[in-house]
Amino acid sequence: MEKVIKTTIFLFLISTAAYTQENLKYAETINPADLKKHVFILASDSLEGRETGKRGQKKAALYIKNHFKSIGIPPYRGKKYYQKFKVKTKRHVCKCEDCDVNFIQKIFGNRKKIKGENVLGYIEGGDIKEELLVITSHYDHLGKHDSLIYNGADDNASGTAAAMEIAEAFMIAKREGFGPKRSVLIMAVSGEEKGLLGSKWYTNNPIYPLEKTVANLNIDMIGRIGDFQKEPNYVYLIGSDMLSTDLHNLSEEVNKKHVGLRLDYTFNSEDDPNRYYYRSDHYNFAKNHIPVIFYFNGIHEDYHKPTDTIEKLDFNKIKKISQLVFLTAWEIANREERLVVDKAK
Ligand SMILES: [Zn+2]
Repeated sequence: MEKVIKTTIFLFLISTAAYTQENLKYAETINPADLKKHVFILASDSLEGRETGKRGQKKAALYIKNHFKSIGIPPYRGKKYYQKFKVKTKRHVCKCEDCDVNFIQKIFGNRKKIKGENVLGYIEGGDIKEELLVITSHYDHLGKHDSLIYNGADDNASGTAAAMEIAEAFMIAKREGFGPKRSVLIMAVSGEEKGLLGSKWYTNNPIYPLEKTVANLNIDMIGRIGDFQKEPNYVYLIGSDMLSTDLHNLSEEVNKKHVGLRLDYTFNSEDDPNRYYYRSDHYNFAKNHIPVIFYFNGIHEDYHKPTDTIEKLDFNKIKKISQLVFLTAWEIANREERLVVDKAK
């Protein structure tokens, strides 16, 4: 009897230990060289600034889709990687510096129809596969104006590359028998720069019921040092404690234990004058009472300018933040209990 108990405990310890060790091993597969390879393509002139509805955005979608395919993620329900959307928008929400909004409004009036697609990398879970964690990053940007290309290397080729590498880390783990217990959806979103259109479309047409969606981790701009910062070893976190104390604590613990970034909560408030909580794709999840974390390096001098280019990025910083997101996601997807939402109004 005693012996049996001992063996059981021993086996239990081994399997728990294995899972906690493995996460670090798979986090290590996310490296600066791979991240750079993706950003190099996404932020290249040939993608023409990836404006939603334009040729460059379609090329970017194809690149991301091919990556999902190559790392072994099958199309969702055997059918497709794309979630297409068509939205009529009254707003011409070009956020670039030199755009005469009134002039463009006169030409296009209120009839601007925008066609985009979200690219879905759906990784089916194990024991708890009916619950879903969503990782998002928008891959669209501002396009080109005359001959000026808005490459959007930081905004948001950096976050898109991160999401692609996080997907790969999960798939390598899955192949080796350490697939996530909950399902994980890695979603590259378009239409963000035109008013969070892709994520709004997704939350109105989710592939899983939103009640079964346990959290959203959103990555938008993680390759630069923002204004007000002096060194790269930080990231702004926004939203982590707004709906779930549990999520906030988990995120803090993972960082302390494995990553060691300085987590900066300066902008983590619903009434912050910058309103970042409302300004990227996580907000469409948060407004549906799904706990979110928004990972962000802050605004800088090249924000929404043609000078947001690849050679200014710090790939070591992108790697570290990507690993933090991956390890946080790993914990959310693999722990027994679902995150507790204790602060929904
Ligand atoms: Zn962005």
